[in-house]
Amino acid sequence: MTAARLAEAGYQVVMLESGGWHTRSDFTDDEAALTERLYADGCLRTTDDGSIALVQGDTAGGSTTVNWMIMLRTPDHVLEQWARESGVAGMSPREMAPVFERIEREVHAAEVPEDAHSANNRLLLDGARRLGWRVERGRINALQCVRCGFCGTGCRHNAKQSTLLTYIPRALAANAQLYTDARAERIELRERDTGSGTPPLKRVQATVRNRQQGTSHTLTIDAPIVVVAGGAVGTPVLLQQSGLGGGGVGQWLRLHPTTAVYARYDHDIATSTGIPLTTMCDQFLRWQGTDYGFWIETPPMHPSFTAAALPGAGRRHAEQMARFNQLGVIISLTRDGAETTVSSGSVQVNRRGETSIRYRLTLEDERRVRASLPALARLHFAMGAQEVSTMHATPVTIRSPRDVGALATVSVAPNRMALFSAHVNGTCRMGTNPATSGATPEGERHGVRGLYITDGAALPTALGVNPQETIMAVSTVLAERMAERHAGLLR
Ligand SMILES: Cc1cc2nc3c(=O)[nH]c(=O)nc-3n(C[C@H](O)[C@H](O)[C@H](O)COP(=O)(O)OP(=O)(O)OC[C@H]3O[C@@H](n4cnc5c(N)ncnc54)[C@H](O)[C@@H]3O)c2cc1C
Ligand code: SF4
Repeated sequence: MTAARLAEAGYQVVMLESGGWHTRSDFTDDEAALTERLYADGCLRTTDDGSIALVQGDTAGGSTTVNWMIMLRTPDHVLEQWARESGVAGMSPREMAPVFERIEREVHAAEVPEDAHSANNRLLLDGARRLGWRVERGRINALQCVRCGFCGTGCRHNAKQSTLLTYIPRALAANAQLYTDARAERIELRERDTGSGTPPLKRVQATVRNRQQGTSHTLTIDAPIVVVAGGAVGTPVLLQQSGLGGGGVGQWLRLHPTTAVYARYDHDIATSTGIPLTTMCDQFLRWQGTDYGFWIETPPMHPSFTAAALPGAGRRHAEQMARFNQLGVIISLTRDGAETTVSSGSVQVNRRGETSIRYRLTLEDERRVRASLPALARLHFAMGAQEVSTMHATPVTIRSPRDVGALATVSVAPNRMALFSAHVNGTCRMGTNPATSGATPEGERHGVRGLYITDGAALPTALGVNPQETIMAVSTVLAERMAERHAGLLR
């Protein structure tokens, strides 16, 4: 996104992507092989204690290439909080509305027709309606989607309007260069900052792999402006490897901790088919009168993913998998960070040069995750589920809506119940205080002129909605301000 905006403004842009150049002909139905190829750490990235799986794309187009497409605007109260608590200016709901509209136009975001909801999405849509809960039909960024359900391993129909098909081609058309299989390893400051004129020159060193030949070489790029957008794990790692960490860099990891409640139905749901995510229930988003709560969505569950995600092993696991098509799965995502002054997670490069990811639910976040479980169970029972189970190592299973209360007291301690996150944000958040933020409200690394952060790492708080539209909108605003501020470089 940032590359497209800067290239279209006339800048000479080079993009480095550590993942490969994978396009529609690579996106087959081989779920296991593609999961390993398209996701960071082969989709096995977790917190150090293994308690939360972090799901992020590592391929051209980043996570947008593998994501589930729902497009949701940043809630007004979140934008207002950023202005109030983080000094973010020019991103009020009124100012962002035209940015959202423009992005929605550019990625062809549209509501799906009523008949396009998959059976799993219907559980949520119809279940919430039966319970009288607020439920929205989301917009998705797709054109001529054939509803095959394989979004998570890339769209072989070129229907999903990910950045692979939208902003990367736009950047290339505006003369940007793209290197894939190119991991940025280090950013060096090459000049002293005199504080005036052009920002000091920086040198980016990247390792470029040749997959076929099994060789690699170093690529060096000198530029006055460097934008880091490696996702909320890749960004702080690169800054720390470059000696540009400290302060808020790597802190304030926000994950929208996500868990599922799965249920057995007496008919097929086939969670792997149909558009993965077309509905969202935000009934509990402002839980107990706070701005922090949880919302409810649906995941696509293909066989390998389901086998890995379902708790247990042996006979019980095999029995669950044998009834794979009759499983319905609904997830809750919690807006974490209710205790706003607590950094509950971090990404740090340790002394051995390894990436260490730590995260603990705070007591307030735990309460919300726990409160979401009975809500998910009620939705399943409203739709006629026979048996409803949590994602605990030994699942808590109930067979009657009368028992949902039992789920409100279960343990959500680390490694007791599966948690995952596909919304990894906040490790270089914008703010005015260098001790508690990684970047200024303009997205510039504190104290390093011309070094910007424009990805999910820059978000000041968790959102309470899926983040792709917010990240696109924030990076658009930051990139266009950058283009204006450094216009002297164009002359
Ligand atoms: C399975 C899945 C489903 C999702 N569904 C939705 C959805 O329906 N709606 C929604 O709004 N959001 C969804 N998301 C989340 C959304 O896609 C992400 O939040 C968003 O794309 C993150 O953007 P980003 O720029 O922060 O990072 P990313 O999109 O992850 O991009 C970072 C890129 O940087 C690369 N990189 C990292 N380090 C380096 C380095 N050192 N050198 C070079 N390159 C590097 C990575 O390979 C990656 O390609 C989903 C995510 C996933 C994984
Ligand atoms: S569901 Fe639609 S967007 Fe997703 S992979 Fe299939 S055709 Fe592509």
